[in-house]
Amino acid sequence: MAWFKRVRKPIAPPEKASRVPEGLWVKCPECAQAIYNKDLIANLHVCPKCAHHFRISATERLKALFDDADYQEHFVDLTSLDPLQFTDTKPYRDRLKTSQESSGLKDSVIVATGRLDGIEVTVAAMEYSFIGGSMGIVAGEKITRAIEMACGKRQPVIVISCSGGARMMEGALSLMQMAKVAAALSRLDRARLPFISVLTDPTTGGVTASFAMLGDLNIAEPKALIGFAGPRVIEQTIKQKLPEGFQRSEFLVERGMLDLVVDRREMKAVIGQTLKFMYDPAVPTT
Ligand SMILES: [Zn+2]
Repeated sequence: MAWFKRVRKPIAPPEKASRVPEGLWVKCPECAQAIYNKDLIANLHVCPKCAHHFRISATERLKALFDDADYQEHFVDLTSLDPLQFTDTKPYRDRLKTSQESSGLKDSVIVATGRLDGIEVTVAAMEYSFIGGSMGIVAGEKITRAIEMACGKRQPVIVISCSGGARMMEGALSLMQMAKVAAALSRLDRARLPFISVLTDPTTGGVTASFAMLGDLNIAEPKALIGFAGPRVIEQTIKQKLPEGFQRSEFLVERGMLDLVVDRREMKAVIGQTLKFMYDPAVPTT
């Protein structure tokens, strides 16, 4: 039994009225510069001082890529049925429900079509906030359908990866998506249509090990973490210290793993230019 018991309610501390409304300023984690939020949005979430790329949502990416931020979404209602009835610290079904409510998406991929620099394209963008952008059966199916749709319409495909890899709550079924998407991409290749893979921070695991590295052009954002296993796991396995900048875009482009490192503010222009070089909508199927 306690010696003293607080009978009356303690006096609540006065609420501190902040003169700065919340969310008006953002501090850059790289250079500590305080950035006016509206300026950051106008700058596509890139720090104006040090060019640090903040993580952005799939929707923001699509808006930045398509002309007049205008696009049409496809396969919106595909959703996972939890085939393994998986439970770890909490049931997978609950995890899905929470992510669906917070993101407003049914799964981690948005498929959209529209014009990029006047060219009709099909884009699949991954949403990291949805269970780490992980690729399960729905993500794999949506990307596959996007590629098949692009084959039918004779359009180039762009996939923007932002993912922790395969979704382990769907076990081997999620791993099968790697082969499925890769097979769809080989059909796109046979149809002589370009595939541009855009790798953003982070692109790891089964996504790197399949379609993210299969682009006719693999473009990464600056300083993005790109790899299969994480650096910590590799260090523990090989028992050696890894070099500075290991698994970052700049490191990988030097060693031929990637083709280009492109600033987000230049991304649309670069993709537009390369598509004009690689693709002519007037050329019929061979
Ligand atoms: Zn900065």
